[in-house]
Amino acid sequence: MGAEERDRDGSIAALKKVAAQFAVSVTPHLQAQIDPADPKDPIARQFLPDAAELVTYEHERTDPIGDEAHSPVAGIVHRYPDRVLLKLVNVCPVYCRFCFRREMVGPGSKGLGAEQLDSAIDYIASHPAIWEVILTGGDPLIVSPRRLKEVIERLNAIPHLGVIRIHSRVPVVDPARVNDEMVAALKSSDKAVWLLLHANHAREFVPEAVAAIRRLVDAGIPVLGQSVLLKGVNDSPAALTDLFRAMVANRVKPHYLHHGDLARGTSHFRLSLEEGRQLMRRLRGHTSGLLQPTYILDIPGGHGKVPVGPAYAEPCEDGSWTITDPWGCSHRYDDPAMG
Ligand code: SF4
Repeated sequence: MGAEERDRDGSIAALKKVAAQFAVSVTPHLQAQIDPADPKDPIARQFLPDAAELVTYEHERTDPIGDEAHSPVAGIVHRYPDRVLLKLVNVCPVYCRFCFRREMVGPGSKGLGAEQLDSAIDYIASHPAIWEVILTGGDPLIVSPRRLKEVIERLNAIPHLGVIRIHSRVPVVDPARVNDEMVAALKSSDKAVWLLLHANHAREFVPEAVAAIRRLVDAGIPVLGQSVLLKGVNDSPAALTDLFRAMVANRVKPHYLHHGDLARGTSHFRLSLEEGRQLMRRLRGHTSGLLQPTYILDIPGGHGKVPVGPAYAEPCEDGSWTITDPWGCSHRYDDPAMG
């Protein structure tokens, strides 16, 4: 056996080990987007397993954002007073290699059974402080339009709910799912239904994906974008600018840019907070205000999300402020309202 064959066998064995630990799936739609000749293909990097996933560190966690500690009943995560996550399913059409719930999602994971769904909805109905329900998972748009409609109708009947939010990657990874029935299911509520689209690279906005987003937006469903800052995918000013321009040009407002969570086997995607802040500073100075998401850290252990982007205003001892402009120059600001 030659060195090349040994290497190939070694890589295949490593990939089998990765697949034994973390779910792998790529939709035919995404497969068609991957350029096999490009070793830096940003679609391949996000979805194809990599031997680097076998490298884990003590600071990495199986439940990086502490879902378990805030789960009063199966399927519900209640971390903030006015909103809950409702994890309808634990499966996705694709499995992102940096997924923060990678230990919980996958084809072997069970979604909510009928009784568990009843209990989850009873929990929401019996807590009047809950104003917003976030359907997540897994990817909630993997379920049939009929099932989605049933769930939305049950949530619609809870008077204290104001908003139903759906977190999904489906419009860009499996756009054919966003058909008329799916759009009708999303519209089957008197309450506002918002969709948060997870996309990380401008290359995800191919014509089929753009058409799926258009079906949602044209139906009156507000769409926001959420992205993860990923080394080798979008860790440059140009890649972030292209991504957020693709969103805004398709009527998707960039909402959050997440700092990568400490999921096991994801260190090859990780940047430092300072690198993330530098990128955000650069965006602020060079691109439209519409392109500015909030740079967010989900504090490990379930302590909530906070903005961690660069600060532009610092108080001074004499009561004035030092304000940094988008290009890094400082200016004194005497606040007239402070007398
Ligand atoms: S779609 Fe979401 S839940 Fe599913 S693998 Fe990707 S990041 Fe994880």
